[in-house]
This record gives sequence, C-alpha cells and structure tokens, in this order.
Amino acid sequence: MTDSKSDNYIEIPEEARRVKPDFVIRPTSGVVKEIKQRIKDGNPPYLDPYHTHTKPLPNSKPIYLGEFDLPEKDIKAGRLSPCPCCSPEHPKYGRKGKIAWFPSEHVIRLLGPDCFGKMDKGAHEQAVAEFKREQQREHDVRYLLGNEARLRRAEAALLKGQEMAAAIDALGKDLRHKIYDVMDIPLWPHIKKGMLQRWEQRTEMVGWTGTNKEIDVLIDHARLHGYRLLDPEAKSLANSFSGPIQAFRILNEHANWNDFVIGMTDVDRHNLAVLLNNSRKAADKAREHTEQMRQLISTVSLATLRAWGMHPGCPCPIHVEFNNEKIFVGKTAFITVHSGIPAVLASGDQVPSIDLPDIKVA
Ligand SMILES: [Zn+2]
Repeated sequence: MTDSKSDNYIEIPEEARRVKPDFVIRPTSGVVKEIKQRIKDGNPPYLDPYHTHTKPLPNSKPIYLGEFDLPEKDIKAGRLSPCPCCSPEHPKYGRKGKIAWFPSEHVIRLLGPDCFGKMDKGAHEQAVAEFKREQQREHDVRYLLGNEARLRRAEAALLKGQEMAAAIDALGKDLRHKIYDVMDIPLWPHIKKGMLQRWEQRTEMVGWTGTNKEIDVLIDHARLHGYRLLDPEAKSLANSFSGPIQAFRILNEHANWNDFVIGMTDVDRHNLAVLLNNSRKAADKAREHTEQMRQLISTVSLATLRAWGMHPGCPCPIHVEFNNEKIFVGKTAFITVHSGIPAVLASGDQVPSIDLPDIKVA
C-alpha cells in the first residue's frame, strides 16, 4: 500500500477523464433526469457518460442543476463516490451530490455537496442560492398548477362549511339563551371541563374503632363531547372560514389559471403558494372546531346530558329531550322550551374537507 494508492483507491477509467464539451447550452431537465435515474439504478456518478472527471479550470463557475444521493446500500457499505474537485481517486461523498454545469467549459461534473466551495466560495454560494430559487420556483409552480382542480374546489367546500358553521353558531346561541336566560339553569360551571360529575354517597371507616360514616363525593359520570358549544363566551365558528374563503377565491377570479401562475413574479408566486397553504391549514382547524362543537347535538351527547340531568346525584338537574328536529330543555319535564336543529345539520353530512398536500420548501 502506497500513499497515492491506499486500499480504497478507485481506478478511474480514461473515458471518465475525457473532457466532454457537449453542453454548450444549459442541459435540459431531461438530461438531469437521466443522470439521476442512472445513479438511482446503482451506477457510480464518476462513470456517468455525461460526467467529466477533471478538476474545474480556474475561473470556471458552476451552475447547479440538481442534487442526488447514492443508493442507501452503497452509502451504508461505504461505497462513496470520488469527487473531481478534491478527491478524484478516493471515496468522498454519498449524499446531496451536485449535478453541476460549467458553462465556460461546456461540461457537466458530478461533485460532492460543497466541494466547489473550497475552490471558489463566492461562486459556490451564488450557485447554491440560485439553485434554491429555481427549486422553490419549481415547487411553487407544481403546487399551484398540479393541484389546480383541488384548489378550485376549495372555495365551494369552504362556503358549505361556513354555512354549517353558521348554523351551529346560531343553534348554540339559541340553546345558550334558552338554558341560561329563559330557563335559568346554571349549567356551564358543571360542564366547562367537559366532564359531567355527580354526587355519590360513599361509606368510610373512621377512627380506631372503625365506625362507618356516610360521605358525599363528586365522581366523574361521563364525558360530554361538544360541551364548548354551551360556553357563554363561545366564538363564532363561521368567521374562521372567512379568511380561507377569501384566499381561495383567487382561483375563481382567474379562468386561465395556468397563464396567471406562470406570469407571476417568483416572489408573488411563492407568497401565493404560502398563503393558500396556510389557508388550507386554517380551514382544517375551522373544520375541526366546527365538527367538535357539533358533537353536542349528536344523539350520543344529548342522551348523555339527558341521563346525567335526570340522575338523583346530578348537581344541576336539567331535563333534555330531543328528536331529529328539536332539542327541548327545562328544569323539569313539565316546562320546557326548544331550539330547532337547522336542516343543514340534520342531514348528518360532515363539514367538507379540503384535499391538498403541503407545499414544499427548498
Ligand atoms: Zn470534492
């Protein structure tokens, strides 16, 4: 074993070293795809037919066209790739290798991730920044154009969701008014943690003699799903749909979405992609809250409240009765008032969701 030919020395064939000045103009995305596919298939980058395995000439600056990882099994086995910049005959890198085009030399080189930075830090950083900008542009265009049909459906889905949310807002307001004001039932303090409790008598032994003593304890009776609908401070659910609706409306203002998206500046396009992505997240939350609140008027929750209200140990007796159209409440069964369940909620349809992937950030 010599210094130059240690045991991990890689024999580089002449063909790899041969300068291939075939790329006078910027290589197409098809060329980049081909290279990536060959590497994915397990072919070493330094043997790629488009690769020139020579050190970049002085003042030759790269343009980064893509990044690649070697197959996982090669990385694990330590079969890394040599790099023409700094380690032409010894293993150097496995991940985030760069497909670099050198316009002044008309060649492509496959390099280690930051290797060129050691030759020319400024040129490397500039190329990395430009590559990131291009990647982001690609992600944004793919998000906005690739999801056009889904983006277009969002506004209608959200309007439907808002209609349902408004119905729940109205029903909640009416129920609260009937329970707290009309019937004067101080229910909220008893349900505000979502757990219905009731008194139960327990027998406890006290003292040395073991005398039995009856004591009353509050025990958990049942969880009340959707209890926040009865919060006197409940906020409007319908309002939380307004922002997202306004954001997605832009789709319906542009019949030719493709031209609109392509015609935007990169910054505007990215901001739009981020806005729509955030709006989708806000819409998911609004939908979730709406469905949560709506659980109160489910058969299960109303039956739970009814059973608790009639229990002898209930600290806040309440009579609840319901059918598909109305909810009756009173202190007893003899005097009740009712709230009507809006038709849009009676159907049992869920608040529509928006089916959109997350945007990618370069
Ligand atoms: Zn290198």
